[in-house]
Amino acid sequence: MNDRDSVIIIGSGIGGMTAGIVLAKLGYRVTVVEKNKLPGGLMRSYTRKGIECEVGIHYVGALDAGQPLRQIFDLLGVSSRLPCVRMGDDGIVDKYVLPDTTFHFPPGIGQFEENLHRAFPAEPRQVREIVSLLRSTLQQFSLKQLLFEKNQEFDLSLHLQPLEHYFDTLGCSHRLRGLLSIPLGWIGVGPDECPLYLWSSSLASYLMSSWKHESSGAAWADAFAGRFRELGGEIICDDRVTNILVQDKVVQGVLLKSGRQLNAPVVIAGIHPKLMLRMLPDHALKPSFRNRISSLEETHGIVGIHLAVPEQAVPYHSYNTFFVEDKQPPRSGVTFFNVRRTSKPGYNVISLIADGPYDKWRQWEQTTREHRPADYREAKERETAVLLDRAHRAFGPLPGANLVDAYTPLSFLAWMDSPEGGAYGVSRSVRQKFKTAALHRTPIGGLHAVGQSIFAPGILGTALGTLRVLAQIVGPSVLQKQFTDLKIEGI
Ligand SMILES: Cc1cc2nc3c(=O)[nH]c(=O)nc-3n(C[C@H](O)[C@H](O)[C@H](O)COP(=O)(O)OP(=O)(O)OC[C@H]3O[C@@H](n4cnc5c(N)ncnc54)[C@H](O)[C@@H]3O)c2cc1C
Repeated sequence: MNDRDSVIIIGSGIGGMTAGIVLAKLGYRVTVVEKNKLPGGLMRSYTRKGIECEVGIHYVGALDAGQPLRQIFDLLGVSSRLPCVRMGDDGIVDKYVLPDTTFHFPPGIGQFEENLHRAFPAEPRQVREIVSLLRSTLQQFSLKQLLFEKNQEFDLSLHLQPLEHYFDTLGCSHRLRGLLSIPLGWIGVGPDECPLYLWSSSLASYLMSSWKHESSGAAWADAFAGRFRELGGEIICDDRVTNILVQDKVVQGVLLKSGRQLNAPVVIAGIHPKLMLRMLPDHALKPSFRNRISSLEETHGIVGIHLAVPEQAVPYHSYNTFFVEDKQPPRSGVTFFNVRRTSKPGYNVISLIADGPYDKWRQWEQTTREHRPADYREAKERETAVLLDRAHRAFGPLPGANLVDAYTPLSFLAWMDSPEGGAYGVSRSVRQKFKTAALHRTPIGGLHAVGQSIFAPGILGTALGTLRVLAQIVGPSVLQKQFTDLKIEGI
């Protein structure tokens, strides 16, 4: 082994760790650098008042045997370390609570079709068309196709149109399009801007199968880090990359805040592309590249709280609730609730997430977490009160409930350095389709980008996007052999 085989990865989220594990398995000497004290990025939960607070994993799709996320976790060797329960045994994965009705997002396309027909009896044609699109997405949603084959049937003009146009073409009612747009909260783009393929593939992954983890995000983060270390990988925590070193348009390594320099011919940035840009020397980039990246629009910010509740008041249930205040979702007022068990006897925890536009918080972006001014704390308290009120309206009175923690977009700025506190990275809106087309590629030899901004957000979107980049770095046949050597079926 020599320096030629060294790889440095910036960031230890699901993107960085997926890249790290695959490359370590291939025999590279991999070092991951993480600015936080512990690895895992958004995957990692944290503990307050003895209660585990989840951050970036509430549920995942496509984790059944032979499905894409499971195949990826099998390849990484982490499947058995991530205990999960299948959601939907009671017929509900997500409960959409609207002002005048409730809709159940079920496990499986057949039941989804039935529920839609029942809820929208006046729109049988529209429901049939939409379900037929989702069925064909499901058929094509195979890891083999997504990673190693060109999809001949992918119709660009159909799939790159905004979801709203598609609904217009079908003549869908406001109610039907509103309901079907509720899951867009996870993509961070509205229906007028979300490309059809992103909506349909995201929905398809949860229709394949939906899973809630039984441990904690911290246990997930530790499982990935543990697996990586077992393979010989090194994780340097609590030290941030400040500079990416470049000579003659070729990457040389990175410089850390501590002053340490790490040399390697390959650097993979598992961070937001704008953060990568800040680390690069001015002379290394053409202004056009710099402008393209720095002008990218972000997904929206979010606010959230974690609320400990006596289990008699809110019993554990596996489904999520999307509480919609507006009769015509999802323009505003969609709140996500997830109930989990805690290690504190007699208590469950409700995690509640809602839109939190950055403009409201921008004025305090220069302040640090430890020194937020009083007016920020007051604004956060007002926001918390609004969210608590929604929790009461969704669940009724909550005697004995305790606020465990609250966060704003500035929390994401502090935790992940997320530009504008964006929760899901760069917006994949149709308006940015050209700007975001090849974000993994950089004009610097040996420098690659992975992470949620590159292909699609979410655990599956980020891991999948990372494997697509790795296929280009090591060659598709080398990556494919990794799957076939493990006898992972369907690849
Ligand atoms: C509130 C919330 C809920 C979510 N829920 C779900 C869900 O239920 N299901 C799902 O599939 N997805 C969910 N997601 C999305 C999912 O969590 C993310 O898409 C995914 O985890 C992003 O991974 P990543 O590797 O791109 O980035 P991150 O996890 O952000 O990792 C990047 C890492 O880089 C580090 N870093 C940044 N700058 C530096 C530097 N200079 N030097 C060193 N390290 C640095 C950061 O500290 C961070 O650890 C959720 C996201 C949020 C915000």
